[in-house]
Amino acid sequence: MSDNAIKGAIHSIETFGSVDGPGVRFVVFVKGCALRCKYCHNVDTWDPHSDDMRTSDEILDQAERYRSYWGNDGGITVSGGEPLLQIDFLIDLFKKAKERGINTCIDTAGQPFTRNEPFFGKFNELMKYTDLLLVDIKHIDAEEHVKLTGKSNENIKDFIKYLSEIGKPIWIRHVLVPTITDNDEYLKRTREFIEELSNVEKIEVLPYHSMGEYKWEELKIPYSLKNIEAPSQERVINAEKILRGQLA
Ligand code: SF4
Repeated sequence: MSDNAIKGAIHSIETFGSVDGPGVRFVVFVKGCALRCKYCHNVDTWDPHSDDMRTSDEILDQAERYRSYWGNDGGITVSGGEPLLQIDFLIDLFKKAKERGINTCIDTAGQPFTRNEPFFGKFNELMKYTDLLLVDIKHIDAEEHVKLTGKSNENIKDFIKYLSEIGKPIWIRHVLVPTITDNDEYLKRTREFIEELSNVEKIEVLPYHSMGEYKWEELKIPYSLKNIEAPSQERVINAEKILRGQLA
């Protein structure tokens, strides 16, 4: 390994991930995110700085120790934080992963996406080595998206449309938050958006929970969803039906 090998800013590793893509997966959580989702449960990933900098080979050598558990479906997932903020590292990591025959997945909110260079060329390079993306739709409504995350969803919608244009498989994930996203009108608009896509393999509703709240307190950042409860099972099923097109 050369001394100038590109390194990723790592937050943590989960060796037996079961909710971040198909099968059992080695999940690498990276640092840095430009969104500020009010319900973020990984608020400690926002700061892009990390004392844990690792090369692709270091990560893949560790990941491969768990290979026998992956079966046909498993592999590695990079989550965050926002993985696309470290796109040069991701290209290096996934290129080497594919050389080792490892299934690759990115868990992203798409916020860094632009069709401008140099990002766009790099993104297309990355897609050569990416098998699947788990894409969060935070909020379908432009203004509500800004209120919820601090940023526009224009380029995020364009990101998802682009993945459809190039036929890259995605799983869509949507966090159901009472009073914010748990609203039939917004859910139906999200469904209309999904209907225009041809690459969606799965749609998952993630019920809001406040388990990450203690991290906000530790970092002394005010948590604005204090009075919001988790949605009922009935509302989760309702959201799943609407987003999957099972309701008229
Ligand atoms: S995109 Fe993910 S890591 Fe970033 S603020 Fe939102 S929930 Fe947190």
